[in-house]
Amino acid sequence: MTADATSGPGADGHEREPAEYDVVGVGIGPFNLSLAALADGVDGLSALFLDGRPEFTWHPGLMFDDARLQVSFLADLVSLVDPTSPWSFLAYLRDRDRLFPFYFAERFHITRREFEDYCRWAAAGLGSCRFGARVEAVAWDEARRRFRVGYATAGGRHEVLARDVVLGVGTEPVVPEALAPLLGDRVFHAEAYLDHRAGLAGARDVTVVGSGQSGAEVFLDLLRNAPVTGHRVTWLTASPAFAPMEYSKLGLEHFTPDYTRFFHALPDGVRDVLVPSQWQLYKAISADTIADIHDLLYDRSTGGADPGATLRPGVTVESAEPGPDGYLLTCRHDQQDRVFRHRTDALVLATGYAARRPPLLGPVDHLVDWDDQGRYRVAPDYRVALAPAVTGSLFVQNAEEHTHGVGTPDLGLGAWRSASILNAMTGGTAYRLPAATAFTSFGAPDDVLVDVRGPGHLARGRR
Ligand SMILES: Cc1cc2nc3c(=O)[nH]c(=O)nc-3n(C[C@H](O)[C@H](O)[C@H](O)COP(=O)(O)OP(=O)(O)OC[C@H]3O[C@@H](n4cnc5c(N)ncnc54)[C@H](O)[C@@H]3O)c2cc1C
Repeated sequence: MTADATSGPGADGHEREPAEYDVVGVGIGPFNLSLAALADGVDGLSALFLDGRPEFTWHPGLMFDDARLQVSFLADLVSLVDPTSPWSFLAYLRDRDRLFPFYFAERFHITRREFEDYCRWAAAGLGSCRFGARVEAVAWDEARRRFRVGYATAGGRHEVLARDVVLGVGTEPVVPEALAPLLGDRVFHAEAYLDHRAGLAGARDVTVVGSGQSGAEVFLDLLRNAPVTGHRVTWLTASPAFAPMEYSKLGLEHFTPDYTRFFHALPDGVRDVLVPSQWQLYKAISADTIADIHDLLYDRSTGGADPGATLRPGVTVESAEPGPDGYLLTCRHDQQDRVFRHRTDALVLATGYAARRPPLLGPVDHLVDWDDQGRYRVAPDYRVALAPAVTGSLFVQNAEEHTHGVGTPDLGLGAWRSASILNAMTGGTAYRLPAATAFTSFGAPDDVLVDVRGPGHLARGRR
């Protein structure tokens, strides 16, 4: 292992000490990129961000040409904290000489392609971002009182020291246990849909499982291509309905710092019950995509024609067997409690994502104060609870849904979370953050008459 390339062997040929940073970010998705962009405005803070990919990419397996962001362009890397930052989306447009066309386009929701291009522009401009650098291990060096971050590049293995580390490694695809043994060219998670799409040629029936936004986009794409490919499309979901994502103005206040603070202060048991009950805030489909799907089905069924699709909610796929003629699924309609079979040639699993517990934490695993479900205990400022002996801080981005709620993967809270982390790191107010961000008052007023709080009070009330 060599010291970091920024240090490397000195003129005398001796290996220098590893370079040292105030903060090292692991992963450069939109969230750590937001941190890099806001850190760029903090005087005296040295930062390095590492990503294993050769360049910034954003969910390439689902990058449909017309797919749009589900949040406003203002939910860029910095604007909701510092609209004067040189790394805002508007600054990117200015740099690309696209401000006038954007002004006339009147687009609040830009395409995912443009968001990716914007992020790539920011990552290329920020001196702190290094791609092609896969972090393999984070260890705590007791003597140096620094984290040792080991990473691999095409040129070999390297190490840097960090006072604080921020994990922004994203989430991992969830595959139902019963379907995991079938994974391959014709059974795959939606995250890699575009990589596998050509391989679906010749399939008579393609089944999509799951009805979040990804499932809906994949279903729509399969349906649009059906006149060329000739396949039928079946869409199954355990959700009780193909439901629209909550997008009302007060409903969106669940994605504010105010709601995040309220949620964090609830007891663990209450939080664990609350998140799944809020599925329509984060697991549903944009109203536009639902409209596109319905329009297409309507047009295809003109004159009594078969639109070539089956849409069935409330269905759990319990098992699947490969056979000489594709796959035979055993499914249960949950409300009717009826079991049925469905034959298909291919399965696209739009079955969601979950927080990772990345192997790179192996050397500090014993220093992390995991909760009883093996999850991080995350403080309001996104600091992970560690053994008292560790004087540095480990922060997480997008791994704290269980402590911070449904806004965790939302781009609209990214800049605020990054600024909160920077404030925690610098022990001050690197960025001034608003005290109030919603019209809704979440929770009871301070002067309650009775406080009967206890673990599980909401869970009891819901039975
Ligand atoms: C198709 C899709 C569309 C979405 N659209 C929206 C939207 O419109 N609005 C919204 O609010 N949310 C959206 N989301 C949700 C969320 O905002 C995104 O998933 C977002 O990309 C999460 O960012 P991230 O930084 O946590 O992780 P990611 O974007 O997944 O990035 C993580 C990065 O970490 C790197 N990495 C992982 N391990 C290592 C390692 N050991 N060493 C170095 N690098 C590592 C990876 O290479 C990757 O580049 C969408 C999600 C999906 C799947």
